[in-house]
Amino acid sequence: MEIYSGHINKLIDELAKLPGIGSKSAGRLAFHLMNLPKERIDRLANTIVEAKENVRYCESCYTLTDRDICPICTNPKRDNNLIMVVETTRDLAAYEKTGRYDGVYHVLHGAISPMLGIGPADIKLKELIHRLEGEIAEVIIATNSSLEGETTAMYLSKLIKPTGIRVTRIASGVPVGGDLEYIDEVTLLRALEGRIEL
Ligand code: ZN
Repeated sequence: MEIYSGHINKLIDELAKLPGIGSKSAGRLAFHLMNLPKERIDRLANTIVEAKENVRYCESCYTLTDRDICPICTNPKRDNNLIMVVETTRDLAAYEKTGRYDGVYHVLHGAISPMLGIGPADIKLKELIHRLEGEIAEVIIATNSSLEGETTAMYLSKLIKPTGIRVTRIASGVPVGGDLEYIDEVTLLRALEGRIEL
């Protein structure tokens, strides 16, 4: 027997596919949405569609941005010879919040995970290697300290070292398995300042 209308079920199913949303939360959200005025729903739906249509990868660092080249890459005050490699745009945002890093970034959009079948070709790795053909003084590997993050760091260091470019890894002040996004700024700064040579 169907408890809800087909449309409600469909909405709950879609919401439940979002990260961190279980079926209970999806149900709560669906009913909340249905009780909102039509204008609010239109605005929400349009905002999502507009964001999707306008947001793209920065042609240099691959972070998500509204422009061809992101504001960090075009900022003349940033040191273009220093590249910090992070897994996601959210990790980049975490380091930006410290306000103390003046290099640029490279966003991989993931990490190597043999278990999940994610290989080097599935993340923005060759794009990074391409950038290294320019004049780069140091690559700071700031992937997470999860198994995937460490695997990616190792892979990267093996790839970069033969080029003679300095490769460093952020210090282990970052808790193992910790998502960079949830770590406070002081810990992030300490991890950055205490980075070790690979
Ligand atoms: Zn950029």
